[in-house]
Amino acid sequence: MPDGLKGLAINSATVRQMGLRDLIDACPRFGFDAVTPWRNQVQEMGVSAAARYFSDAGISVAGYCRAGLFAASTAGERRRIADDNRLAVDEAFALGAESLIILAGGLPGVGAGNPDRDLVKARGQVADGIAALLEHASGAGIRLAIEPLHPMYAADRCCINSLEQALDLCDALDPARSGLLGVAVDVYHLWWDPKLRAQIGRAGPDRLLGFHLSDWLVPTLDMLNDRGLMGDGVIDLPAIRGWIYDAGYRFRDEVEIFSERLWKLDGIEVLQQCAERCRVLVGQK
Ligand code: ZN
Repeated sequence: MPDGLKGLAINSATVRQMGLRDLIDACPRFGFDAVTPWRNQVQEMGVSAAARYFSDAGISVAGYCRAGLFAASTAGERRRIADDNRLAVDEAFALGAESLIILAGGLPGVGAGNPDRDLVKARGQVADGIAALLEHASGAGIRLAIEPLHPMYAADRCCINSLEQALDLCDALDPARSGLLGVAVDVYHLWWDPKLRAQIGRAGPDRLLGFHLSDWLVPTLDMLNDRGLMGDGVIDLPAIRGWIYDAGYRFRDEVEIFSERLWKLDGIEVLQQCAERCRVLVGQK
């Protein structure tokens, strides 16, 4: 891995054109020592087979994507979601994942064209859902990393939209700062926030559980799948990375880029470009 890195992880969605096995096999060549896989890939492979494949290759599981999507219109639906989230914790445990990524979810009914517009209620359900999941995760020693998403996703993906909001939730649900509830800081979602530096400092080493890298392209042509390689956009990545490590961050830099453009390339070429951009970034400290 590039000098100056504690480790370098790749989110498997960055190279979704590759199978999980091929990605794990290719990692060492480019200096990646960890992968953040998605549940569908792991379930397809079988959880214990995937765990074995990772450990045989000497590749760690950084985060595990993902649990959450808490808000729902009916109690039955919320129970089904809670069951599935507990299963995600168990899978994360079997994989030895360093954390389970929590994506809050948006308003119930949006996908069905019948949105419940009560955002306050949805956020309350998210808090209740995380509180219940934290009990199960604590038993397994699995860290839950709440990932705030850019406000443009509040309706359909995630109604936790700033680091401050995520940390307020952490303080409410885990006042003792157990180290088992924290945040994933994704530059794509949070770079614009005037409070970002202060909130990263507030999070500190026990709440900073993930650091995700990409870049914000101008213009952005697609709200979800037009993220840039580090250095191609407008985010001051060296500055934010400096704040993260100054705050005592203990885990890896993770590349997570959703890009229709990159998905059309050969996965190996994308891995090489990602690793190269990380090398440049680390050199800019
Ligand atoms: Zn992310």
